Amino acid sequence: MTSKPAGPETAIRNYPKLLARYQQLLDLTSDLAATFDLDTLLQRIVVAARELTESEASSLLLYDHPSHSLYFEAATGALMGGVGQRTIPADNSIAGWVFTHGEPIVSDDVLNDPRFYREMDVLTRFETHSILGVPLRTKDKILGVIEAVNKHDGFFSDEDVQILETLAAQAAIALENSRLFTQSDLIAEIVHELRTPLAALTAAAHLLQRADLPFEQHQKLSETILTEVRRLNDVSTDFLELSRLESGRVHFQREPVHLGGLVQESLEVVRAQAQTKSISLETQIDASVAPVYGDRKLLKQLLLNLLTNAIKYNTQGGKVVVALTSEDGEVLMKVRDTGRGISPENQTRLFEKFYRVSDGDDEVQGTGLGLAIAKRVAESHGGRISVDSALGKGSSFSVHLPSGPMTEVTTRPRF
Ligand code: ADP
Repeated sequence: MTSKPAGPETAIRNYPKLLARYQQLLDLTSDLAATFDLDTLLQRIVVAARELTESEASSLLLYDHPSHSLYFEAATGALMGGVGQRTIPADNSIAGWVFTHGEPIVSDDVLNDPRFYREMDVLTRFETHSILGVPLRTKDKILGVIEAVNKHDGFFSDEDVQILETLAAQAAIALENSRLFTQSDLIAEIVHELRTPLAALTAAAHLLQRADLPFEQHQKLSETILTEVRRLNDVSTDFLELSRLESGRVHFQREPVHLGGLVQESLEVVRAQAQTKSISLETQIDASVAPVYGDRKLLKQLLLNLLTNAIKYNTQGGKVVVALTSEDGEVLMKVRDTGRGISPENQTRLFEKFYRVSDGDDEVQGTGLGLAIAKRVAESHGGRISVDSALGKGSSFSVHLPSGPMTEVTTRPRF
């Protein structure tokens, strides 16, 4: 560390200022503890880091284990525009040094610091002169790094280091809390979803105990039990899949996937289901479409979710078309159906967890998780999913996926 220690006179002169900074930090601490919304929390942390250290910009980087790099989770104005989804190698950067050593760093002249990762300035067109970096440490691990960039006046001081370390300690706790809060939110949601089938099962089991129950009722009740058990099974499987995707614990394959083959394979899986409603399955595949680099199993799951919906919410004798084309250097996969369609209000909420459109017709079974999973898979491949639909006419789900070996696949947890 090369920060400049302040002499005793400077220290006394700076005392009121220092006190004001600690007061600001104290106010912020209670604010952070009460904020569970992740984006608000991150923004407060980086703004405070910049203000408390009197620097030009600041950023918060989190560590991504699979790629052994740090990515920008938040940044203040001057840096925000440029850093986007960029990552910094953990082995060859100042942030990486802070992360791997678990110690703060002051680099007053980054251009002469061999650890400085110059490419970032080239990419962001931001000129970095000096950096103060501190680890973002919880009780048992280091989550990432907070950096203050370009001290306004002079050099980063020992006080700057201390104050940023104090902020980082509070920030790490707040980030952990926010993550735990999100998890407990999820648990509440899943418990809520399990209650309905469990209530139906309990009622059916009670009725079956009655000695005077007519035989036809027996039949009906056992059907209810089977349906509800199936529903419980589906909810648990989908929920597990989604929480694995969200937690970042999924181990991603990254291989060239030819979606044309995947479409054919997936259509075979749903063919029997389509036949029960006399639905025809068609394809429009452009054979020259480039492969997508990603996880074949997850991409198949995405497609199957769209296909089963296109059949489930279709009319008797309807049609499902899967089209595969290239568009602006990306692969575009569309699943179109001639089903009931979705109103504009419902289209905005379809991809939320557990959201199901209620139309008073609960014949169609579902968990409300299929589209949330599809969205997560598309996004983790650097792609996106959207819907275009008209009530009573049908729906079309579009998945845009980048092609080529540069596709970044990540299920990085959003802390
Ligand atoms: P579910 O398990 O309920 O099908 P999804 O997340 O896959 O859950 O879909 C959410 C809701 O979106 C469904 O309940 C359904 O109301 C609506 N939906 C999805 N796909 C279609 C479609 N192709 N046509 C009409 N409605 C659809």
